[in-house]
Amino acid sequence: MEGIGAQFDFQPRTRLVFGVNAVERVGEIVRELGASRVLLVTDAGLVAAGHAEHVLKSLKTDGVNAVVFDKVRENPTTRCVDDCVSVAKSAQIEAIIGLGGGSSMDTAKGCNFILTNGGEMKDYWGIGKASKPMLPLIAIPTTAGTGSECQSAALIADEMTHQKMACLDPKAAARVAVLDPALTVSQPLRVTACTGIDAIAHAVETAVTRKRNPFSLMFSHEAFKLLVPNLPRVIENPQDLEARGKMLLGAAFAGMAIENSMLGAAHSAANPLTAHFDVIHGQAVGIMLPHVIRFNAENEVARRGYAELASAPEIACVSDGLEEAVEALVKEMESLLEVARMPTSLGDCGVQRKDLPMLAAEAAKQWTAHFNPRTVLEKDFLALYETAL
Ligand SMILES: [Zn+2]
Repeated sequence: MEGIGAQFDFQPRTRLVFGVNAVERVGEIVRELGASRVLLVTDAGLVAAGHAEHVLKSLKTDGVNAVVFDKVRENPTTRCVDDCVSVAKSAQIEAIIGLGGGSSMDTAKGCNFILTNGGEMKDYWGIGKASKPMLPLIAIPTTAGTGSECQSAALIADEMTHQKMACLDPKAAARVAVLDPALTVSQPLRVTACTGIDAIAHAVETAVTRKRNPFSLMFSHEAFKLLVPNLPRVIENPQDLEARGKMLLGAAFAGMAIENSMLGAAHSAANPLTAHFDVIHGQAVGIMLPHVIRFNAENEVARRGYAELASAPEIACVSDGLEEAVEALVKEMESLLEVARMPTSLGDCGVQRKDLPMLAAEAAKQWTAHFNPRTVLEKDFLALYETAL
């Protein structure tokens, strides 16, 4: 198994319930977990779209009482989590439901940490810092993107410094993820595009990390096969439930890959762009990924990893040569950005040359950089940003 991390500890923690209208089973699922009072964590947009009502209806049918926190914001901060915790504390809940994109699920997980283990978010920054059991979490994604429903990490930004804290604990993983493609058709086009590109980037980055292993690779490859052909389909026809379902599954599988192999330099380079220039996460990752692929492909093991990935949905064939397959992968990523009508350069996002050293210094400090297949230093990030400018 040359080039594949020899060690892994694989424990599926999240039951996956997939299917159109699967959301109607939420009440029954909560009951199976032994809970009769739950907190529903979501945002005002999803309440307006009627999705929260869907969930509440199912809960009511099964006699489950619910309190709603609908003030989730994008890139949630410690303050959002504190607000959510106050609502949870007043309601004596026995389970938490996170309904929405990554932000809803992160807020729900963050709330779960503080509610059950006390203290503040930064106490859980790192791996396995919670000592007490946590409440069962049910994740219901309404976007096909982060894959947070299959991960044990809560990403919460410090309210003051905007530093993103990754708080990982197996106990924080959702007990059940309800994957209902019908919930994803109401997303605005831009959300579909940005989250879809992000999910594809997850499949690509996880396929070559230093931590990858046969289990994570299986998820990376399957995710890539589901996502790449279906992103153009859902952009063209948002009501295509079959393609929506494949995107949702692909994003969940890519999330499973992250859980078992972490991410790489495209994510390290993207975070400072979001922090300082408000570039949407999927756009930032999408711009950086083609450059990171070319950079990493200098490494022989990564080159083969990319070539094998590109061969899966017949974008290219490894037998044509590894370099050709990697180049075909880069071209495919670039053409997906075009299909998604997304910016392809940092200049398009308002970044200037003078900003690059500051961005490079911050990118080099990102945790995900450690898992990149090729060692990536501050000077390498500077060069990557320059090519992406
Ligand atoms: Zn991402």
